[in-house]
Amino acid sequence: MKLPRRRRGNQEAATAESAPEAAPDTSDLADAADTSAATDTAGAADTTDAAATADTAAVTDTGDVAAAADTADAAATAAAAATADAADAADTTVTPKATAPARASAARSPRGGLRDRVRRFLQQPGTVDLAPYRKLLPQIAEAEERLRGLSDEELTEAAGDAVEDAQLCAVGRESARRALGERPFDVQLLGTMAMLSGQVAEMATGEGKTLAGAIAAAGYALSGRSVHVVAVNDYLARRDAEWMRPVYDLMGVSVGWINQSSTPEERRQAYRADVTYAPVSEIGFDVLRDRLALREEDMVTAPPDVALVDEADSVLIDEARVPLVLAGSAEEGNADQAMAEIVRELDPETDYEIDEDARNVQLTEAGAKAAEKALGDVDLYTEEHLGTLTRLNVALHAHALLQRDVDYIITGEKVRLVSESRGRVAWLQRLPDGLHAAVEAKEGLSATDTGEILDSITIESLIRSYPTLCGMTGTAVAVGEQLREFYGVEVAVIPPNLPCIREDEPDRLYETAEAKEDAITQQVAEAHATGRPVLIGTLDVAESERLAGQLEDEGLPCVVLNAKNDAEEAAIIAEAGAREAITVSTQMAGRGTDIKLGGSSGDRDEIAGLGGLLVIGTGRHESSRLDYQLSGRAGRQGDPGGSVFFASMEDDLITQFAPDTAPPDEVDDDGLVTDAGAYWSLGHAQRVAEGVNLEIHRNTWRYNKLIEEQRRIVLDHRDKVLRTDIALKTLGERCPERLGELSETLDEDVLAGAARQITLYHLDRGWAEHIADLADVREGIHLRALGRGLDPLDEFHKAAVASFNNLFDQAAQQSAESFETVSISADGADLGAAGLKRPSATWTYLVQDNPFGTDIDRALRSVGRLLGRPRSSS
Ligand code: ADP
Ligand code: MG
Repeated sequence: MKLPRRRRGNQEAATAESAPEAAPDTSDLADAADTSAATDTAGAADTTDAAATADTAAVTDTGDVAAAADTADAAATAAAAATADAADAADTTVTPKATAPARASAARSPRGGLRDRVRRFLQQPGTVDLAPYRKLLPQIAEAEERLRGLSDEELTEAAGDAVEDAQLCAVGRESARRALGERPFDVQLLGTMAMLSGQVAEMATGEGKTLAGAIAAAGYALSGRSVHVVAVNDYLARRDAEWMRPVYDLMGVSVGWINQSSTPEERRQAYRADVTYAPVSEIGFDVLRDRLALREEDMVTAPPDVALVDEADSVLIDEARVPLVLAGSAEEGNADQAMAEIVRELDPETDYEIDEDARNVQLTEAGAKAAEKALGDVDLYTEEHLGTLTRLNVALHAHALLQRDVDYIITGEKVRLVSESRGRVAWLQRLPDGLHAAVEAKEGLSATDTGEILDSITIESLIRSYPTLCGMTGTAVAVGEQLREFYGVEVAVIPPNLPCIREDEPDRLYETAEAKEDAITQQVAEAHATGRPVLIGTLDVAESERLAGQLEDEGLPCVVLNAKNDAEEAAIIAEAGAREAITVSTQMAGRGTDIKLGGSSGDRDEIAGLGGLLVIGTGRHESSRLDYQLSGRAGRQGDPGGSVFFASMEDDLITQFAPDTAPPDEVDDDGLVTDAGAYWSLGHAQRVAEGVNLEIHRNTWRYNKLIEEQRRIVLDHRDKVLRTDIALKTLGERCPERLGELSETLDEDVLAGAARQITLYHLDRGWAEHIADLADVREGIHLRALGRGLDPLDEFHKAAVASFNNLFDQAAQQSAESFETVSISADGADLGAAGLKRPSATWTYLVQDNPFGTDIDRALRSVGRLLGRPRSSS
């Protein structure tokens, strides 16, 4: 059976059809689930075809090969590396923006390949044509004078009448002029129009995306849609909502915001506004919590409608794989101090071995012996001590692989994870359970509650649930292909208001990290001597601190901006452009505060005369896009500015992704590498990293698709149980005698409530167990399947479908059992007495990139290393 592939738009309809009507009849469900599996297989087959046939178009088409190669590790990674190679071939002069994104495959693109190919010749590949938007600009300009003559009330009225984009933009411009004293530039309105057309607008830092986005959000709201402006963090959600509120007021649109600390009632209110600003994690957590509601009135969210995503690449690509988790506590946490003590005593030289990529660690023979002795002469490798061995391994991971101030920091007696892509702390974030406790033990902290995962959803699944998606960011083109592939959105490149005159110097590659840091210090000193402000972007918190120390030693006072002083960040950044300022910061992507020359003292011209802000990168990131986010902090709004990246042969990027790079042939006295081959390796390593990360994303996406559909089926059913009396009907049919007996003393309402309670309990339990099963299956299936020459994704689907069918069967059966046995009174069903307790407390967290990756991720990375060899050594 070969079914057409579904796209985001019609997924809902398709699932609704297959959703069970009453008490789920499992044969239906088997069909429904089968369909999704079959759809997927068909999809996989399609892509194989595409790879085989459609590959004539362009060299950069290797993305398709990756898709076809699918789950076999080696093949997938080969493709990733091939993508990098193709990029190499297509483009040897690597500036961040010049790396051409791979073309959409004919098989995947909803609009077919021809149009894409035509676009390649007409404009920047894979981006939309701005001509239709530009055509409206005269009309917008024409309306200006008339709108200026209106009273505020009349302006609000005009907003209500604005049906066309041109009218809307004209009203938006006038509202912003009045409310903020800022008249949106033409280019900002082009961005607004792109967003109103469901696209991601690429606009450089400082171009005024907040305002462009607000006018677009107001436009959607005025056409009756409900808009979530997805912000990067609490601070920006609140800042942007409050900053734009006067504009919204004039346009007659209500606005609200949500932070981590918002109460359920505040959330409900905020979601009720026309436009709601919130961090993506908070929206996700609300969706997850609503999913467990026992009464309709306890829910806070409304159905998703329009998502307008700020820093879209960061949220949609970098964070896409991050699962948001809802957990429930059953028991007290238990910090394994004893184990932490044992691994602390192990000798790193002899007792364990860390993989090259620092993603895995194993006990050696000697280490195992030492641990067994410390544990009281047990044999760890027997069935009996399996649990102990697991605890030991978890403790060893925490001890040897997770580094304080790189992977996590300690504040207020708590372990906080540092987000890899943003270098900031995510307050609710936790490591997977055992590991979190192990880190707490390692640091001698008392353990926080442990619990079981009740549900989880990836950011990608969450965003894909919105029927309409648009966004804005400084760097979208580089991920244009992925945005189309994973979300079906196009990128519109909006030119800057004033031409960018920033000078980006070529990379400076050093032989050793030490030489690199010396060179950085010297460069900072030189710039500082003239009074020129310097912003240094580092790759992690530890490096920030080290470099800051070195600068201080040289008498160069600097401010360090990292995850530890998150709250002060905005104020510090605002001053980064002041005379003589030296600011050291971890990655700048998604920071959302823009740097004005002169800072608050406002002496812009003086600083401009010094050359503007100088941005120094202490290493190339795993993606050129992140490099560009950093350099983009200089030269905003036509200001002068400059950027330069330093790198060393010892940087993680090279040692991980091009580990076999030959030592450079030519090095000068300061340790600066001068031969071109080594520079090539640096760019190559970055492209391999990009390819590997893309493959990991693709893989997760394939696995998550089926789970997403299953979730929808369960949620549909749950919703019916919650809102109707279907539970009582079903249980009554299964247990007519019990129903008769209960009906003698109890009202139908009470009975319906009890039946609902019982059914929801077992359904929620079943789902929690199902997703736990799936996680296990996914981890294990890969190696099993590879060993027998099977397709892991196929195997995963089979297992997932079987487990899913079981879920409904089992929930129905257990509900009937509970209905027969649990005591039911006017107060409802006494589930607690029967040992069927709902979690007493729930909490939420993000699993920010499993620090060790799944087996699949790990395999991809290690094969990536093998394939990432530079030309010289092969
Ligand atoms: P981005 O998000 O694109 O980096 P912001 O939205 O933070 O940029 O805006 C950067 C700065 O530009 C802000 O200080 C804002 O007040 C200012 N700004 C935005 N639009 C205009 C405008 N049309 N005229 C003058 N200043 C503007
Ligand atoms: Mg911004």
